[in-house]
Amino acid sequence: MKSNALFEALIATAVDGIVVIDARGTVQIYNAACERLFGYAPDEVIGHNVKMLMPRPYRTEHDEYLANYRRSKEKRIIGIGREVLGRRKDATTFPMYLSVGEGRSSEQAFFVGIIHDLSALRSEKSERAALDRQLANIVESSEDIILSKTLDGVVTSWNAAAERIFGYTAQEIIGRSIAIIIPPDRLAEEEEILKRIRAGEQIKHYETVRRRKDGGEVAVSLTISPVRDAAGKIIGASKIARDVTERQRAEAKAANLRAELFHASRLSAMGRMTAAIAHEVNQPLTAVTNYVNAAKRLLAALEGGAAVSNAREMMEKAVAQTLRAGSIIRNLRDFAEKRDSVREVHDLNGVVEEAVALGLAGAAEANATIRANLGPDLPPVLIDKIQIQQVVLNLIRNSVEAMADSARREIAVSTGTDGPDFVAITIADTGPGLPEEIAARLFQPFTTTKDQGMGIGLNICRSIVEDHGGQIWLMPDVEQGATFRIQLPLAGLAEEAP
Ligand code: ADP
Repeated sequence: MKSNALFEALIATAVDGIVVIDARGTVQIYNAACERLFGYAPDEVIGHNVKMLMPRPYRTEHDEYLANYRRSKEKRIIGIGREVLGRRKDATTFPMYLSVGEGRSSEQAFFVGIIHDLSALRSEKSERAALDRQLANIVESSEDIILSKTLDGVVTSWNAAAERIFGYTAQEIIGRSIAIIIPPDRLAEEEEILKRIRAGEQIKHYETVRRRKDGGEVAVSLTISPVRDAAGKIIGASKIARDVTERQRAEAKAANLRAELFHASRLSAMGRMTAAIAHEVNQPLTAVTNYVNAAKRLLAALEGGAAVSNAREMMEKAVAQTLRAGSIIRNLRDFAEKRDSVREVHDLNGVVEEAVALGLAGAAEANATIRANLGPDLPPVLIDKIQIQQVVLNLIRNSVEAMADSARREIAVSTGTDGPDFVAITIADTGPGLPEEIAARLFQPFTTTKDQGMGIGLNICRSIVEDHGGQIWLMPDVEQGATFRIQLPLAGLAEEAP
């Protein structure tokens, strides 16, 4: 009696489902755990065939299986146990581990099935797998480089961004040393990083340079963290790297732009000063001219032989020089003053000559010479003289800079007519010329090969020339150096231009 009660309590409180069937498959015992698992009440199951707890195909095969066992005693599950599917009352299924034992009471055989629910374990497993997949997707689709390495620096994973930015495929680099992407002069840096990782430190936003497969360098910002195993032991490092080449380039550009703006504002301050000085100097110059002219007239009244006539000659020269000083100052004032665009009819040769004169100073300093070949009888042009001079000066300055390392440093500036409707200015130098890739986007802003260059000079030149209804281009296939040509419409045509 006592043992019977104990037995019942055992069955009722068991965490796993317990089902007892007879040799024909009829359920005799069905415990509380089974009620939770299958959703059937005991009276719905007890006395019925156990196959109701099984989905197809077990359900259809079970009777056959039992009969077969009765005949052959061939065990397929008894005493072994295996993973099968259970079927709930609501027809849904769940994975379970079923172990079956065989018993015998008086002449009757019976089977005890113990059912362990695997659905929780399964869903945890599949959740983990889904999570892993998701994580792998994130890593693969990341714009940032994500890789991992052992504490000896052997690469263990390598994502798509790493392939794209460094040029090595995962296959090429996994199992090899990370040193492949480290410039030789920075290997010590990697040692230091690994040392800190071994000490459990994380390294954040460390900016450095790495080497691509093609030998080029990439500026990267690294965040490196230790990777630990389940026991917490550090076994490697994971590294997230961002390509900051573009950002650094943009920062350098911005710094240059700032410097250029400072320069421009200094220039405009100087321009204002120059204009003021020119104004101030003009008055005494006019006074000097007047005095010298007066003195000349006084001398003319004197009869004084050679000395007087010498003095008169010198007075003439003094007047010429003061007039020249006056015109230089006027020119300077024109050039330095901030002013609106003014179109006037000009003789192109005169305009170019003045620009060449202004360019000579810079050229001489750089040991370059400028030769002017001015074409005869050019028809007049309607231009803003200062702007066109700016263009010519800018081209001369570019040539001077380009020829810094050239053996021959010569610039030829020529003018001439170009068909019936245009005049042209050509500026040719004996420098290195332009590589194809620069030539292709020469007039786009920010195209530059100079450390300090802004790459806007030619862009401004083009706007000015096009504003005049003209064109500027780099002549293809010249023998040596670079040759720029500016084409401007004749005065009559330009007036008609919108
Ligand atoms: P920046 O002088 O600031 O670079 P520019 O627009 O004036 O800007 O020139 C753009 C680039 O074109 C230069 O950096 C240089 O590489 C190239 N370039 C211009 N003129 C010449 C020239 N005469 N010879 C060779 N290269 C030139």
